[in-house]
Amino acid sequence: MKFNTKTIHAGIHPDEATGAIMTPIYQTSTYAQKGVGNHKGFEYSRTSNPTRKVLEDNLAALESGTYGACFGSGLAAIDTLIKILNPGDEVISTNDLYGGSYRIFTTIFEKYGIKFHFAPMQDASAIESLINKNTKLIWVETPTNPMINIIDIRKMSTLSKKHNLILAVDNTFATPYLQRPLELGADVVMHSVTKYLGGHSDVVMGALVTNNKELADEIYRIQNSSGAVTGPMDSFLVLRGIKTLHLRMQRHSENGKIIANFLKQHNKVDNVYWPGFKEHPNHKVAAEQMRDFGGMISFTLKGNRLEDALEIVEKVNLFTLAESLGGVESLIGHPATMTHASIPKEKREKTGVVDSLIRLSVGVEDAEDLVADLNNALA
Ligand code: PLP
Repeated sequence: MKFNTKTIHAGIHPDEATGAIMTPIYQTSTYAQKGVGNHKGFEYSRTSNPTRKVLEDNLAALESGTYGACFGSGLAAIDTLIKILNPGDEVISTNDLYGGSYRIFTTIFEKYGIKFHFAPMQDASAIESLINKNTKLIWVETPTNPMINIIDIRKMSTLSKKHNLILAVDNTFATPYLQRPLELGADVVMHSVTKYLGGHSDVVMGALVTNNKELADEIYRIQNSSGAVTGPMDSFLVLRGIKTLHLRMQRHSENGKIIANFLKQHNKVDNVYWPGFKEHPNHKVAAEQMRDFGGMISFTLKGNRLEDALEIVEKVNLFTLAESLGGVESLIGHPATMTHASIPKEKREKTGVVDSLIRLSVGVEDAEDLVADLNNALA
């Protein structure tokens, strides 16, 4: 099955009881058993639920994986994955990453004795120098949030295989439409399903997908033991959203290209971060590992003044000032005071999250309207 067909059909079957085409919302906590242990595969909805199971199978297929697991948020998925580690273990993570990932690593897991190293991952040999006998996992986010850097997943996979590490990739920005990390050698893929996979800004959810049976067993054990699962209604909404993932991602990428080019020529704009530009430092890697370049763009303003950035994010009309990304509607955000406020100023500025940085999640509206809106706000 090819990708576009998978979004609609993989793991999805008409309901056996009624023939319903759409996966029913099995809004139930428990399941009748004929005798002790004699049931139809479901015992209790924390452990497994039929609506969630269809979504988990669909997501696994989209990522070219075998095992999928869905959680109450992207962070709950990260929480589950890091819980496979033990005190004393070490993780090497992308330094330019979602602020909430940084927060869970440093304020929750460091407390339990797991050590995190944050480093730019454009140079694989620099990462190798951080590996020691305690290193267990490499955490890659690509494209990164919010600097839209690209990390070479194949190179990181070679490195992690050489040292017998787990390579985890946060694929939230790209989605499996643009990039499939498991095909490039990653061991596990993580998603904030809240974003492009859900696609309609109406659900908070996370997911993990892997091909590794041992890793999957651990993930399911922790999913059931810690219990941060997602509900059947949200699973239904995401299944519906995914049916148009390929169409939406195509339009997000088309609009992204138009907006990036508009910003690039604007006299008030300083830098534009979008991997489709030939001069983007990681353009070659992006062109190799991604099908297209997506609709996430960050830019800075000439003069780098906080008040200019705050004025622009308030002046736009079609772009809505809000956290999050990946919905059909265009959003605008100010990372330094919003999504990345949990990262200390010196640390965030080192990665490029300066005061005038603005992040766009370009939606699927008419690009001319989006350009006019930005043009008006920049004027
Ligand atoms: N990873 C990335 C790249 C994100 O952008 C986010 C949220 O913005 C998360 C993880 C966390 O996901 P959630 O908000 O669904 O917990």
